[in-house]
Formats: sequence, C-alpha cells, structure tokens
Amino acid sequence: MHEFNFKNNELYCENIKVAAIAQTVPTPFYLYSYKTLVDHYKKIRSAFRVLDPLICFSVKSNSNIAVLRALVRNGAGLDIVSGGELYRGILAGCDPRKIVYAGVGKRPDEIEYAIKTGILFFNVESEEELNQIQRAANSLGKKVNVAIRVNPDVVPKTHRHIITGKGETKFGLDFETVHKIFNSQWRYPSVDIKGLHLHIGSQILDAKPFVEAIKKALLFIIEFKIPATYLNIGGGLGIMYSIENPQTAKAFAQKVIPMIKKSGLKLILEPGRFVSGNSGVLVTKVVYTKRTPRKKFVIVDSGMSDLIRPSLYEAYHKIVPVKLREDSSDTAEKVDVVGPICESGDFLGKDRLLPLVMKGDILAVMGAGAYGFTMASNYNSRPRASEVMVMDKKFYVVRKAETYEDLVRGETIPKELK
Ligand SMILES: *Cc1c(COP(=O)(O)O)cnc(C)c1O
Repeated sequence: MHEFNFKNNELYCENIKVAAIAQTVPTPFYLYSYKTLVDHYKKIRSAFRVLDPLICFSVKSNSNIAVLRALVRNGAGLDIVSGGELYRGILAGCDPRKIVYAGVGKRPDEIEYAIKTGILFFNVESEEELNQIQRAANSLGKKVNVAIRVNPDVVPKTHRHIITGKGETKFGLDFETVHKIFNSQWRYPSVDIKGLHLHIGSQILDAKPFVEAIKKALLFIIEFKIPATYLNIGGGLGIMYSIENPQTAKAFAQKVIPMIKKSGLKLILEPGRFVSGNSGVLVTKVVYTKRTPRKKFVIVDSGMSDLIRPSLYEAYHKIVPVKLREDSSDTAEKVDVVGPICESGDFLGKDRLLPLVMKGDILAVMGAGAYGFTMASNYNSRPRASEVMVMDKKFYVVRKAETYEDLVRGETIPKELK
C-alpha cells in the first residue's frame, strides 16, 4: 500500500492534493511520501524482527538526503556503492557502523574515505579489491571488516539488465574463489573477513531464487567450515507497478527466517525499491497533444532525462491525470505519453488508455520513487527536476530544480578560444 490515492477524482499524496503542490512547485518534480517510505521500511523490519537484522537501505534507489534521513531516523542503515553515496549517508546522519559498501570498482580514494569514516563492512567483489583494502587499512593503521560477495549463479525472473546473481555477470566471486580467500586470511592481516554477501538482482517477485541463493551460501559455509558471522542477503524484492503480484515482506521473511535462524548468522538486508519505489511519483505537465494518422501523442514536460526506466528497461509505470474530469471515462483513448527529448526512445508510456487530457493538465507517473531521480541526467541540457517530500500535512522542497547556471557549472572555455 502507498499514500497516493484518489479522493473525489483528485490524486492526493497523504492528505495533500498533488494538484495543489503543482500550483506552487513548477513541474516536473518528484514527489515523495514520508509515510509510505517509513511504512515500507517498517514492514521489512517487523517481518524480520525475530532475527534483529541490520536493514541497510540501498542508497542508489533514492539518494536524496531527506529520504535517507527519514529512514535513518527510523533506525535504518545504508547500503552504498560509491564515495558519493557515503558522503550523502553521513550528511543524512547515518551511523557509519550501519553502512555497508558494495560495488565492483571501488577506487583507492573511495576505500580510504570509507575506512576513515569507519563503515561496518566492505562487500568485496574481487581479490584485487581485497588487496587494495588490505593496503589501505595497513597504511591507515586500521583493522577493517569485509564480507565477500558471492555470485551464487542463480537466475531470477526479471529484466536481463537487472539480474546480478548469474554466473556471467560482473558481480561477486564464484564459490571456489571465495573459499580460497577464506583460506588465505593470513594474507590480509589488516582485514577481518566476517561473512558473505549476496545480491542476485532486482524486482524479483517470488522467494524462490532468494531461497536458492541463500541455501547455496549456507551449504557452502557448512561444508567448508567457513568462519562467517554475517550473511548479507542483499536487496531485490519486487514491487507492484501494474499487475505484478509480489511476495509480501512477511511471506518472504517466513521463507528466510528458519534458514538463517538455524545457521546462527547475523542477517543484513539491503532493500531499495521495496522501500522507495511506491513512495514517489513523478509529476509532469502536458505541454501539447497531437494526433498523427497513426497515433495520438501526449507530450509532457518530463522524459527519459528524468525517468529513464521505460526507455532503458521497458519498465511500466502507471500514468494518471491528477484531476479526473467528470465524464473522463467516456473519452478515454489510447495515447503515447512522450517527453521533449530528441530520441524516439524518449517515452514514459506507450499505448496507454488515458482519460481525455489537454494541454496544461498535470499527470502523475506512479511508482517512480526508486531509480527515478537517481538515474536522471542532463541530456538535451535539461535541468534536473526538483524533489518534494510530503510529511505531516506539509510539503517540503527537498531539492531545488536545477537552473541553466547549474547546467554549465564547472565548464570553461580555454582562453585560446576566446
Ligand atoms: C541495487 C542494490 C540493492 C538494492 O536493490 P533493490 O532491487 O532496489 O532492492 C541492494 N544491494 C546491492 C548490492 C545493490 O547493488
């Protein structure tokens, strides 16, 4: 459930009309519901309560510092994949001992920054990275915790671009190499190898591939007497965008808890989309409509530079006018909702049955809270949208829209060209 609902033909975020916000905040903007964010986080927390796990919100799904703060204040840790995300996490007031750091290409300066900050774990993805961490830890005189990211070679049913736990992907290490690493702990005197990390992909709707991956990891730990104290099972829980029927946090937990309990390992989870996905919408305005012999187009002031998921993953996002006209269902027709960007791949929805919409109408693109703003770009020199959060009957601009000056910040013309 989420807090974007229609009452009397008007879309509300919690108890504020989206149209009212669009009267003060220029479109396009991302709109987040504090209550939905925290509710979704708490769903996972209560489902796994008996294990008292560390729940690290995946910063790459939504990295606005107000969003991070909302979750951190409610007890969440953070899952980061870059120095930039670490910087954001610290600004949001996260205890570094609740931060875990994954990613195949951590640079030496990022590793040093994370060690100095005192994060809980690196989720290590290669032997060279582990060597780098050893060197950095040694020269800083610190002992550093790591978990090894294992690639369990399972294939979840999801879009091919968001599978990460299959043998051919760049993520993690095969069990054999992981075994070798645990056996050569002596080579890493400044590193404590504390456990295993798994993250098999994203938008996974049922527990099966997770269970399969966790089973493989646990069998490996038992069979080879791996001295692990932590198991990090990553994120990837799917959500409802249209007709999906994802498992609930509770159903997922019921499958996972017995396995973990028996193992005695400490559990870490890294949900991203599950927490942030349905906590945000993208609000955009119809600039023009046009009819061609083949199609009707609704052209809006937002596109793939703000929300690339439809273009990149053929992702479906429901699109709704924030105010429905009285007779709107009679006049529904199939339209393509497209952006202003000069690419035919620039669309938010294709062949959508939408009630009659006209120039100036405000639309909401639903389920845009995860991998929305964080994947935005300045393509076509479009300033990035603002971000707004509704909380306790008020709304706050938590990131201003970019300006033309922001677009060229840092650019210079060599004096020879002047
Ligand atoms: C992206 C990512 C997540 C979050 O994935 P969701 O599908 O958004 O839950 C968790 N862990 C790691 C290592 C990731 O890269």
